[in-house]
Amino acid sequence: MNGSISVLNSGSSSIKFSLFDQVEKEDLRLVFSGQVDGIGVMPKFKAKDAAGTILADEQGDDHPAQGHQQHISRIISFVRQQRTTLGLELVGVGHRVVHGGARYSQPVRITAEILNDLELFIPLAPLHQGHNLNTIRAVQKIGPDIPQVACFDTAFHRTIPELAQRYAIPRSLTEEGVRRYGFHGLSYEYIARCLRRLAPELANGRVIVAHLGSGASLCALQGSRSVASSMGFSAMDGLVMGTRPGSIDPGVVLYLIEEKRMTMGEIVDLLYKKSGLLGVSGISNDMRLLQESTAPEAREAIEIFLYRIRREIGSMAAILGGLDALVFTAGIGENSPTIRQRIGEDARWLGVKIDRSANDRGKQIISAFDSKVAVWVIPTNEELMIATHTRDLLLGR
Ligand code: ADP
Repeated sequence: MNGSISVLNSGSSSIKFSLFDQVEKEDLRLVFSGQVDGIGVMPKFKAKDAAGTILADEQGDDHPAQGHQQHISRIISFVRQQRTTLGLELVGVGHRVVHGGARYSQPVRITAEILNDLELFIPLAPLHQGHNLNTIRAVQKIGPDIPQVACFDTAFHRTIPELAQRYAIPRSLTEEGVRRYGFHGLSYEYIARCLRRLAPELANGRVIVAHLGSGASLCALQGSRSVASSMGFSAMDGLVMGTRPGSIDPGVVLYLIEEKRMTMGEIVDLLYKKSGLLGVSGISNDMRLLQESTAPEAREAIEIFLYRIRREIGSMAAILGGLDALVFTAGIGENSPTIRQRIGEDARWLGVKIDRSANDRGKQIISAFDSKVAVWVIPTNEELMIATHTRDLLLGR
């Protein structure tokens, strides 16, 4: 029987799942992927195979008291049924876990002790960590013998120099974990690996990767290792995102508390769900809709998004001491030639020159022949990164 790896990525209102086979080969192969979204409101269960054929598209039930457990059960029985049909054995389940603290710089196999340890990081990522760990527990309940692996969004950034991980606050707070962690690590690790394969000489150099999706951040890579992230203690810092503001003066938060008398819940809602592209435009958090809109507010939202990328690229280039390559990835980075073109023009002072035609045609290399900096577009694949880590850890590769 052939082995396979299942991947689970759970958020507050959605759970994404996928299955990969060919575990004995260097490159795993996607068998199918799907998601349950609208959890707590109107859940929908969808799955499609690697060729895009729909395998499931159902309206689910939601019993709020059962939380994610009911949906995990549904996912597991779906995965099991598909595996049986295809004759695939389950080697293990890999999870995306948002926070591994300062301790975990590699994926780990889940044990009772590790799970308790990861609980300690819930206060560091209150909106996500709990869901991630509950999903691991839900799988344990259904299949106590299924090997499970946690892959952390923070792990790849543990190579950032200690100095750069610290805030200038009293030492005791730093020691208890108030530090810059960085996120989107699984995406950056995937991109770093791709670049090492596709262009080893660039991977050895100074690279900025722009992960521009609903969440957005930049990562500075030196010799394929992360040396800086625009995200910090939380995934709110840095660039403007779909609904998050990016860097904001902490004085603003004090003002909201002191003058606006806002509660903790209201501030969380404002900073995580109502700011960013949505907050500025008042129209949408979806870049496509903003680009189609003629409203000045939509323009302004895009301009602020670009302005902050321009500043942050300068900051990353300063840390790297120059730039050899710029890589675009995630929803906006992979699909919007206009945004890439503008970012390229803003980074002209660094020697970036984008070939308009290659960019418009969605080529992998989009830099002009006389550009000092290579510019690439590489689609990210966090699920494949998780599956690969899970396979490598469980099968000792
Ligand atoms: P996540 O996985 O974090 O939910 P994605 O990486 O899928 O996010 O990115 C979602 C973002 O990508 C949205 O803002 C969406 O509008 C944007 N996007 C997707 N396709 C395009 C496109 N063709 N042009 C511009 N933006 C796009």
